[in-house]
Amino acid sequence: MRKFLIFILTGIISFSGFSQNTLDLTQEVPFDNTIRRGVLSNGLTYYIKHNELPKDKTSFYLYQNVGAVLENDKQNGLAHFLEHMAFNGTTHFPGNTVIDWLEKKGVKFGKEINAYTSTNETVYNLSEVPTVNEKVIDSCLLILSDWCNELSLTDEEIDAERKVIQEEWRQRYNANYRLDKQLKGVKYNHSIYSKRDALGSMDVVKSFKYKALRDFYHDWYRTDLQAIGIVGDFDVDVMEEKVKTLFSKIPAIKNPKERKYVTIPDNEKPLYKVATDKEVKNVGLTLEIRQFYKKDNSLAQQRENFVHTFFNSLMNARYKEAIMKGKTSFKSARALYGDFEKNYKAFNLNLSANEGEVENAFKAVYTELHRVVQHGFTQGEIDRLKAKMLQNNENWLLNGETTTSDSYAKRIKNTFLDGLAFPTYEFGYNFSKSVIPTISKEEVSALAKQYLTEKNRVFTITAPEKENLQVPTLNQIQSIMAEVENSKLEPYVDQFPTDMVLLDSLPAGGKIIGEKLNRGFKAVEWQLSNGAKVVYKFNNAHKGHIELNAVSQGGASVYDVKDIPSLQAVSLVNRFGIGDLDPLTYSKVMVDNSAKSNVSLETYNERITASASIKDVESMFQLVFMRFETPRFDEAKFNELMTGNYNSLNSPVQNPNTVMNNTYKTLVANGDPRYFEFNKAYLDQIHFNRMKEIYGERFSNAADFTFYLIGDVPFNTVKTMVETYIGALEGKNNKETYKPLDDYFPKGFNKHRVEIPMEAPRAMVVIKMEENVDYDRETIMHHNILGDILNIRFIENIREKEGGVYTISVNAGDTRLPSPKLNMDISFSCDPNNAEHLNDLVYNELKQIQNEVKQSDLDKVVENLKKTRPLMKQSNAYWMKTLETYYNYGENMMAPEYYDAILDKVTTDDIKKAAQSFFNSANTLDIIFIPEDK
Ligand SMILES: [Zn+2]
Repeated sequence: MRKFLIFILTGIISFSGFSQNTLDLTQEVPFDNTIRRGVLSNGLTYYIKHNELPKDKTSFYLYQNVGAVLENDKQNGLAHFLEHMAFNGTTHFPGNTVIDWLEKKGVKFGKEINAYTSTNETVYNLSEVPTVNEKVIDSCLLILSDWCNELSLTDEEIDAERKVIQEEWRQRYNANYRLDKQLKGVKYNHSIYSKRDALGSMDVVKSFKYKALRDFYHDWYRTDLQAIGIVGDFDVDVMEEKVKTLFSKIPAIKNPKERKYVTIPDNEKPLYKVATDKEVKNVGLTLEIRQFYKKDNSLAQQRENFVHTFFNSLMNARYKEAIMKGKTSFKSARALYGDFEKNYKAFNLNLSANEGEVENAFKAVYTELHRVVQHGFTQGEIDRLKAKMLQNNENWLLNGETTTSDSYAKRIKNTFLDGLAFPTYEFGYNFSKSVIPTISKEEVSALAKQYLTEKNRVFTITAPEKENLQVPTLNQIQSIMAEVENSKLEPYVDQFPTDMVLLDSLPAGGKIIGEKLNRGFKAVEWQLSNGAKVVYKFNNAHKGHIELNAVSQGGASVYDVKDIPSLQAVSLVNRFGIGDLDPLTYSKVMVDNSAKSNVSLETYNERITASASIKDVESMFQLVFMRFETPRFDEAKFNELMTGNYNSLNSPVQNPNTVMNNTYKTLVANGDPRYFEFNKAYLDQIHFNRMKEIYGERFSNAADFTFYLIGDVPFNTVKTMVETYIGALEGKNNKETYKPLDDYFPKGFNKHRVEIPMEAPRAMVVIKMEENVDYDRETIMHHNILGDILNIRFIENIREKEGGVYTISVNAGDTRLPSPKLNMDISFSCDPNNAEHLNDLVYNELKQIQNEVKQSDLDKVVENLKKTRPLMKQSNAYWMKTLETYYNYGENMMAPEYYDAILDKVTTDDIKKAAQSFFNSANTLDIIFIPEDK
């Protein structure tokens, strides 16, 4: 078959890279000299970089070479505890005033102000702070410097935070966390890593002596282990002076303890451990093999990283292919060589399978790996991956120009903690371009054997907790391995469909019969001869990228109840391949193609979304064409997916989240016949042929669709593609609208207390409210602001004062169809014994806010919305919504009266009124899930 293309889009950037023969791999990676760095006499390191994305804003980071491994047994959990204390009082910002002050500048806690602690590092960030005002810069530097050396650590604040951390533990205490705890001993061969995770021991958290925390702070938060990174829109010289002046004042501590790095002892014999949990469904088996690995700064090691990436990518492609071909004994399989803990890497081979099939699954997975040991990868696999990676490299350079200050700050972390250089994007681009072609089939293939050292093997199994559990023993696993190693395996057959293309002939396109400029949006509207309407807006915020949304009214609303199950199965078409290409062939044909498409059926619309990078624009249009004209339905694949669905019903294990979610949906549906619980009766009503028919009905008339296009592609290219592909779709005369559906949401106040089987001592509180309103922008905006203010109230009173929760979420929004509604969802997890009390506190806040809205809270929310607005307005996603809203409702989301003007004049009185109106008339569903009494 021949390849038909209208345009061959050639390389976007021509760059004269350095050639392979001049590449000296003993050289060091060069440091990006646009980054100003230095070490103060007290040992503190700084990195300063000017960057204008986003404009007028700066990100401030504190990186510390400190983590949970430095704790002693009495301090188990205190590295993380200390991180929390940074937000609970410093010399210049007592109590919670750090957060309060930053929020007044529009920087939001939890979103732009955050921190994390791990085994070996602790990192704090103040992101995208508006810094046009010099004083704000000074204050942010003061916050960092306070964190370095001036935490207050008062008794009262420490005691208050103990509860918050216990709630954080409760929130994280799920099956994975519990399995991890059981496996840590063997995973880290009983080194200190086996005893330290960041959360630590709750016994310690409840009762540690104040001194233990202050000691940890004194011993480890010290200048020789600290660095600050400042990236943003400012003058570097001025910033460097400020940093030197302020941070040089911090004294280096006397006789510092040695910051040791953990050595994990070698194990000559393999270690083995089975971990079980009541909430686990499948069996997982992992083989992990550790290697000591010291990162250095050489180009040779950079090149080596590429070789490992090749192995990971090719090995996993083989597993994916096996799964796509069907009938494997494993449900998933993955091989990965990558970072382990500091100074270690590990090869990790893992799979999941049904109980009783684990031996076969392991044999199959290990056989594929050993096929590579015996025969290597094929030249075809290597060559195709090279082509793909070189292509990605082009995109990488494009994206490199749009690096945000926060991504720079994150990369600086690796520089400080691992001593790696931070090269420029241009260097990275040129290096990749010259090194990828030099990677050989032999060296990638050889890795399989190199990874499988006899030393440092750890086998771990995760499984459901039950009597007579059937999982392989260490001996059984080892004999499977020996059997595979001693057998002569057939080489892999590389069936790459070189003669297959997406579309093998160009469709007879249509014509653009009308062209109109939408001046407000600088977009163009095309009317096509088949009745389809297309709107294109050029936007280069996402460089070299295009997106398409094709939308039509109707959706599920035009179908009877009996069709709903088959209708919901329509999305399966995304997994059936397309045109003549079955799913496996399709995935191979698209291996180096970025074009994607997806079909969805919503309540009131049907929709096709698609996207591509610039070189694959034509493929994207072809996919959209094929979604309409040559969709593929695969009955065998359909049956396979349905069998999986039926099997999942048979499992005795129920994940508590799934149970909660289903119960919640049933309560929200409140008897709506169009809502189906996921059970056998539902699955029985899904019919392949009916699904196919419904697809045909939804996606056969292009005249009923509007195609929105946004991207960085020349006007004439898009125009030609639109005529050729969208113009070629079949169009009929009839236009369709949706049918308004009845509202079943429970009226009035509805309280439910539901017991569910759950291992964690945890309650989940969910409050959902809805109110019918007349649509106008002020009402919507005031409601959104109300939600954000409540968020601040809840953090202050329910998290900080009460210590009742770790996080509490508030989502205020609106829906428009079939008639406008405001909604608000509030949810949090907590101690079951505390759930009713905290629930009452939430309603207190809802009452309180109807009497008083603090000006300072409103200011914080308004500042944050104003701060994020400019970037939001540039994004493709916002533009997509803007176009759709305009053509559906005639509303302009970019206009001041839609957003900015409302923000400018909103008062506390407006929000008070919004609260009164909403909370007095909203229908409310109040649910608390608690663990079943056992
Ligand atoms: Zn935390």
